[in-house]
Order: sequence, then structure tokens, then C-alpha cells
Amino acid sequence: MIVQTLNSWRRWVEPWYVAYALLGATSAGLIPILLPVVVSRTGRATDVGLVMATISLGGVTAPLWGGLADRYRLHRGLLAGGLFTVTLGLAVFPFTAIPMARLGLALLTSIGICGTDREEISGGRALTPAGQLDLVIGHEMLGQVVEVGQSVTRVQRGDYCVLTVRRGCGQCLPCAMNRSDMCRTGNYDERGIWGLDGYQTEYVVDKEHYAVRVPSELGHVGVLTEPLSVAEKAIDEAVHLQLARLPDASATPNWLFDRRCLVAGLGPIGLLAAIALRLRGAQVYGLDIVDADTARPEWLTVIGGHYVDARQVPPDKVDDALGPMELILEATGVAGLVFNLLDALAPNGVYVLTGIPSGNRPIEIPGAELVRQLVLDNQAMVGSVNAARDHFQLAVDDLGLAQLHWGDHVAKLITHRHPYTDLTALSQHPTDEIKSVVEWTIV
Ligand SMILES: [Zn+2]
Ligand SMILES: [Zn+2]
Repeated sequence: MIVQTLNSWRRWVEPWYVAYALLGATSAGLIPILLPVVVSRTGRATDVGLVMATISLGGVTAPLWGGLADRYRLHRGLLAGGLFTVTLGLAVFPFTAIPMARLGLALLTSIGICGTDREEISGGRALTPAGQLDLVIGHEMLGQVVEVGQSVTRVQRGDYCVLTVRRGCGQCLPCAMNRSDMCRTGNYDERGIWGLDGYQTEYVVDKEHYAVRVPSELGHVGVLTEPLSVAEKAIDEAVHLQLARLPDASATPNWLFDRRCLVAGLGPIGLLAAIALRLRGAQVYGLDIVDADTARPEWLTVIGGHYVDARQVPPDKVDDALGPMELILEATGVAGLVFNLLDALAPNGVYVLTGIPSGNRPIEIPGAELVRQLVLDNQAMVGSVNAARDHFQLAVDDLGLAQLHWGDHVAKLITHRHPYTDLTALSQHPTDEIKSVVEWTIV
């Protein structure tokens, strides 16, 4: 009997058996592989449940199909039809699912270019996603929502929104609280910088969790949200430090009002920090090494800031020339300057650093003198990087307020707009540039 069966091997390759074998391979092989993949990609287990229920329904109704097949002698046709339907369904399934609890697709409108992007393309700090040779750059984004998942409530189709940059490590408490900007392990990813593709693409998909809605009136300046969020966090940290340690700091609801603040480095972060400080009534002095009649000092003057040319007033003479500063926000990334500026800090003052110096060249500083000053004057020096979602929200709110205060002047921070077909902005750095932006569609 066995020999006879083995000898009749031709019977195994008849269409009937082949169809059955394929059906078995599909249900025993393809389905267990495909379904988890779909769940992990879309986060939508409901659809998988529906597919499984449909397959089970086929089993439950098998007697009916069997009866029909017997009656009309359609065994082969029915089996082949069933196989075709299952295969087609599984092939189409991954493309039909709309991600749940995700933002869906955000249609990009503009992407800001900054030093980080330029550093990345010249071989600086960057990490490609696992298994990829390339990294899509771009982290300062503004998009328009074109599709949302079922449970998304914070943004709607047509809204402008900004996505944050950092994605948590999944291992520490700050990351679990959506404060990956304070990640303890360092195992975080950053879209467009470290381990995750960025936003210089036609469409992006992300979770609602990371989205901040931008009112449509701010569409033309919304791309400034990310760099402003970095300044907002730095200022927030400085103010919190003062509130925690100065006995008189909490006497007024706005510690910054009329405080003497020095912003070192008038790049986009410095000028955006100046916006946040001026909105809170602070006196703002902006330090840089360009002529007073150029774009950045002139922009600062219009919002009520005072320009200080560091070539005429060196950092260690700021105190003598302008008086001590109660808050210093550093946004130059020039290590030597960072320590020289300490001289300008008032007793009990706070100094927050945001610039990231490149290179490893050692610098010479009067260490003993600086430490003596820090200790004897109760000064606080703190580094600040990245920003939490709430700082992005603060940034959006401040952009709205800034527009009320200074109107179109805010938009003048964006000095260069390039179409996405022209990426020269990435390699060039025009002298009159404040912020260059790549436009993917017209806002
Ligand atoms: Zn940036
Ligand atoms: Zn973490």
C-alpha cells in the first residue's frame, strides 16, 4: 500500500493537491509571519482579528461549501477559488490598514536647515537607522496633516503641526514620561540626526504623542518652532533653578521681568531666545562679532534688544561696560568664549549653555579664578539640550505672541527659502542668512 502510494507520486502534483499544499503553506507559514508584521507596522490588531475571524468563518461554513461542491461537482474550482481569495486578501491587507494612534501622514511644507544638518552632511555627528546606509536628514519641520488614525484627537486633517525630534529609549523614567530630552541612558534616537530618518521627505508618519498643533495663522513661521523650543527649554531650566534657590525669586509671578539677560551668539537659537526673553519683559543684550548694521543685530534691535559687538566689548569686559548680567544664555558653541563670559555673570546669577563646541582642541582658562567666582557668588551653570513636547507648545504660543507684538518682523528670521529641488542651502552659508528653509509645498 505504502509502496503503491509512493510510486504514484504524480498524483501529488495534480492541481488538486498542489492547491491544497499551497493553502496549507499559506495558513501554516504565511499567516503567522505576515500578521505580526502587520501589527508591528500599523499598531492595528483589530484588522488582524478581522482577518482571523474571516478565515475562521470559512472553516465554520465548510459544511455548506462542501455540500455545494458535492451537489454541483465543484470541488477543484471551490478549493482553487478559496486559495485565490485568501492569497489576494493577505496580499492586500497590509496596504489597507490605517495606523491607529498615529498621526497618519503629515504633508511637509517647510524644513529648517541648521548647523546640525550642515555638520551631518560634512561627516559630523549622525547615525543611520539600523540596517540602512543612508539617513534622511531634517529635524526642524512643519507639516500639514493629510491623514489621521482613528484614535487621533489632537490634530485633524488640514491642521499644521510640528513633530518633536527625540524618541525615548524605552528604558528610563524621563523617557516614559515623554521627557526624552532628559533621557538618563543616552539610548534615545533623534529623527534626522541619530538612528531615525528625519523630515526632508514628501510625507512623514508618526505618533500623535509627538505632534504639536500650529495655528494656521502661524503657518509661515511654524518651522521656527523646533529651534525656539530649544531656547524655551534653556530659559525654563534657568528660571526653575532660580525659583528653587533664590529666596526672593518667587515673590513675582514672572522672574524674568526687567532682568538683565545676555544672549551670546545671535544665530537662530540666540535670536529666538531673545524673543522669549523680550516677551517676558527681560532686558536683552545680544553679543556677536558682526557689524551692527547687518541682518541679525538689526533684527534684535527691532524687538527691543541691545546689540553688543564682542570685537569692541570683549566677553571679559562686558561687566565693566554694561554691568553684571543676571542670566546668560550661551548659543555660540565656542568653548573659549563660554568660560570668559562667566566674568559677566552677576552674583546669584544663572548661566545656561546650549551651544555644542566641535573639535577636541584644549582651551586655556583661568580655572581657579572661575571656580572661586562660581562658589563665592553662588552662581549656577547648567547645560541644556533638546526640548520636551511642552517646550514645543511654549514655542508655538510664543510665536503667536511674537506675531502680535512685532507682526511680520518675526517671519524675517527666515531669510532664505529654497524649493526642495534646490538643496544648495545645505552646503552654502550666506553671510546675510539667519534661517534657511527648504519648502516642500507653498504655505
Ligand atoms: Zn536644528
Ligand atoms: Zn531614556
